[in-house]
Amino acid sequence: MPFSDFHGNAETVRTLREMLARAHFPHAVILSGPQGAGKFTLSQMVAKAMNCLERPVADGLPDFCGHCSNCVRIAEADALEERFAEAVEARENLRDADKRETRILVQTHPDVLIVPPDPPQMLVKVDQVRHVIHEIYYKPVEGRERVYIFSDADFMKEAANALLKVLEEPPEFATIFLLSDNPSALLPTIRSRCMHLRLAPVTATEVEQYLARTRPEWKPRERALVARVCGGGLGRARSFDVAAYLAARQDALTLLGPAMGVRDHSDLFRVTDTYRAGAEGKAKTEQLIRTLYSLLEDMLFLKSGTSDLVRNQDIQPELARMAENVDFAWIVAAVQRLGEVESGMRRNLLRSLALDSFATALER
Ligand SMILES: [Zn+2]
Repeated sequence: MPFSDFHGNAETVRTLREMLARAHFPHAVILSGPQGAGKFTLSQMVAKAMNCLERPVADGLPDFCGHCSNCVRIAEADALEERFAEAVEARENLRDADKRETRILVQTHPDVLIVPPDPPQMLVKVDQVRHVIHEIYYKPVEGRERVYIFSDADFMKEAANALLKVLEEPPEFATIFLLSDNPSALLPTIRSRCMHLRLAPVTATEVEQYLARTRPEWKPRERALVARVCGGGLGRARSFDVAAYLAARQDALTLLGPAMGVRDHSDLFRVTDTYRAGAEGKAKTEQLIRTLYSLLEDMLFLKSGTSDLVRNQDIQPELARMAENVDFAWIVAAVQRLGEVESGMRRNLLRSLALDSFATALER
């Protein structure tokens, strides 16, 4: 998967590759842009190009092969959400004393480290930055350049100050990427020490065109739905499980039934009963919760007269009828209750019961 596979933002990609060609890459780069624009994908591509053993050239500029041992190992972190979930789960299984001292990091190649925000606060913590400081001054082990990717550069204060020290004295052979959808939240002293590149959002129409090429087997209305649900994220769109989404959405609509005046709860109980314990039930419940959020948000768009923002456009008439049934305060309360269900899931409350009480509490 070379640079030519990156969609959109051709100028920014070209700038990065020209800097690679000059072999004088900046020590720190802020790559900003909305969620789904490809910030992480692009920084991974640069990490591969820096360390590729074959160093191919395309259009006169550095590229990467995608199949040498460095490219392959770096690419193992391309599925960042999965690697992140594995790291979090590994920490959950530690003894309490070790748990407190373990920070979430993703490393599939010795010279490329990804620093995601650390849950539950979802902020970068000082211990994560200390880990970076501890190793960044050593020469690369197997590659030519050490790469540090802060996949969501949202720092706790102490962590930001620690990072500043590295940026004041960066080593020759390391590059730090700060990925952010809100770069103005970074300390001015950090911003002034970084080169800043911006990625423009990918529009829903562009995602649809991309899906027409990569997912020709999908129906056009499915491609339109996925493009909107994925909010411009190409990677997510391509691997989207439409059938699972539609099933979750059907369940979500059943859960909203009591709030819409359905008095017979037998359909509701039949649906919630399928949300069981265990890992499979967890993934299914998470998808249901995400889908419920998107339906509630669509109802909010419809109520506020911004129907062009509705994501589940294929069922817009049904959503409009539902929106007419409720007021803003109800939607706010529903979102809040959904947040409680979500945190209850983390404490392993019985899923079917939590969903039942969510649905019946919204009854009016
Ligand atoms: Zn390679």
